[in-house]
Amino acid sequence: MSKWFCYSKNNANTQSSNSTSTSSVSSSLAYDLDNLNITQERLKRYADEANTLSSETSDTTLTANTEDDLKTKTIFLREKAISKTLNKIKLSMKVDLCFVLDCTGSMESHIAAAKDCISHVLNYIIRTNSNIKLRVGFCGYRDHNDKGDRLQFLDFTDKYEQFTTYMHKVKSVSSSNNDRPEDVLGGLDAAITQMDWQNSTRVLFHIGDCPPHGRRFTTLRDNYPDGDPNGLTAENVLEKMQSKNIFYFFGKITDKTDKMLEIFRGIIGEFPMFDLVGGDPIKLIEKLIKATSSSITYAVSSTIGSNSKEIYSLKQKKLDMNPNVPDWNTLSLQKGVVMWYFIPKTLDELKNPTYFNKPKLFSESFSFKIAQQPFSGGVEKCAYFALDIKRNKIPFIPCIAKQQMKEMVIKEYIHIGKNDPFEKYLEAVEVSTVAYFLSEEFNRHAKRKNIPKVNFLNVKLLRCGTIDLRTRYYIIEPRLKDAEYKRFNANTGVITELRPTLEAFVHFTYEYTEGYLVVCDLQGIELNNEFILTDPAIHCIDSLRFGGTNFGKDGISELFLANHRCNDICKKLKLSHIDNSAFNLVPTSDNN
Ligand SMILES: [Zn+2]
Repeated sequence: MSKWFCYSKNNANTQSSNSTSTSSVSSSLAYDLDNLNITQERLKRYADEANTLSSETSDTTLTANTEDDLKTKTIFLREKAISKTLNKIKLSMKVDLCFVLDCTGSMESHIAAAKDCISHVLNYIIRTNSNIKLRVGFCGYRDHNDKGDRLQFLDFTDKYEQFTTYMHKVKSVSSSNNDRPEDVLGGLDAAITQMDWQNSTRVLFHIGDCPPHGRRFTTLRDNYPDGDPNGLTAENVLEKMQSKNIFYFFGKITDKTDKMLEIFRGIIGEFPMFDLVGGDPIKLIEKLIKATSSSITYAVSSTIGSNSKEIYSLKQKKLDMNPNVPDWNTLSLQKGVVMWYFIPKTLDELKNPTYFNKPKLFSESFSFKIAQQPFSGGVEKCAYFALDIKRNKIPFIPCIAKQQMKEMVIKEYIHIGKNDPFEKYLEAVEVSTVAYFLSEEFNRHAKRKNIPKVNFLNVKLLRCGTIDLRTRYYIIEPRLKDAEYKRFNANTGVITELRPTLEAFVHFTYEYTEGYLVVCDLQGIELNNEFILTDPAIHCIDSLRFGGTNFGKDGISELFLANHRCNDICKKLKLSHIDNSAFNLVPTSDNN
């Protein structure tokens, strides 16, 4: 049986002094723990992170004589960084959305869908994310022989009737030439260079059923097999798009564009693609509304907290990932220790930052296998498939052990900085433990009222490697079932997939903790009568807890209270109504 112990000073001493009977893993863990001052390490890291955020150019080293001094200075830096981030968030809610549409003969139904789409998209945005302000524009393209009809565009406007009236005049024109490729690059280039992109979040939604000219894109009959007659290339067009921080989305109709998409991905990395295969016009409009709304919320939530360089380099990295579960027989067994916090019993314990410290930490030895390449990644972390392997001895027959295997996911921070990674990983476990505690309380209330359950995965810290210099830390959690992984809302307050239960859960965490925190950034899978979530973020009035995604008391009021619309589930749970008209959401300035 594996050994369980609750860490305490005495236990640690027993572990390290009794070296003959203790494995090297346990004694080195005890050594690590002895040397870790969680509070001090955390303060130092927060000060460093806030410093980098609030003054990207200067590298001031923080000097402090006492822990209290360090605390005061860190709070100051954190609040400065938070206010800067909140301003960026508000600016990112201003969106330029441009439809780039192939307007040749075969595209009639899609042009019709685009006409009707925008008013529905606006209604949806107003209902879910009233803080998002949108300007829309249009760029239609045909082919080189079409002369005056080759390109047509309407610059960005917030007068939506004007947009709809314009769209009603857009006609699909069958090209007079006899080849299939169209002037795709000309259309994209005009949208990128000739339209007046001003807002922080920029969305280019491209819909087309034919490839650009040139042999690299197609083997279909082509009057310009050497490529664009005006000298445009996919590289120079897409690079202009990147330098203007424009997000690219594609609505796919046929396989004829597959080669083009592959080439585009090779240049800018992965981008979201939507199925817009025609047929039933009503269904097509529905698909387009959903695709457009997701593109807007995706772009808004990606614009914040990371610059486009980071986003594009991340997309590039995605190409090196392996989405397949590895052949476990080829991977070697590794040993480590998992650690987790004892779940708080009361709200006071949860609110007490010193609760989450060494005496409340548990550990257990752990055998596992890990894939060599990650299967997915975000701006912060990447994730690997893993296997938890337990050998359970059968009672009375100690020589035979039964092997039990459980599918897991291991996550690793991409940038750890110069600080102690042990402390940062412990913080991730603390965030999950708090979310877990609140979900249990929510479910207790929800059960009586027939509301779907909200569950969080059981997250632990995994430490592996023996007493060598390259001790590695990870986060480990059970692998979610094969259901579509969704992000329901972001810590910026943006609702990406509206689920009343989850929005009510966020409200519940605010009310239950008496305004101390909100749990947000809800993501995971949706089952019949239950959500299973992971990787939450927490906004808390104590800005020295829960990491860089905690936007403090202003985050609670400006990102949650100002956006939340109480729904039927809030009412069923008898949560007090939140009146969001009292919160001001106008960005304070245009500079960062
Ligand atoms: Zn509510």
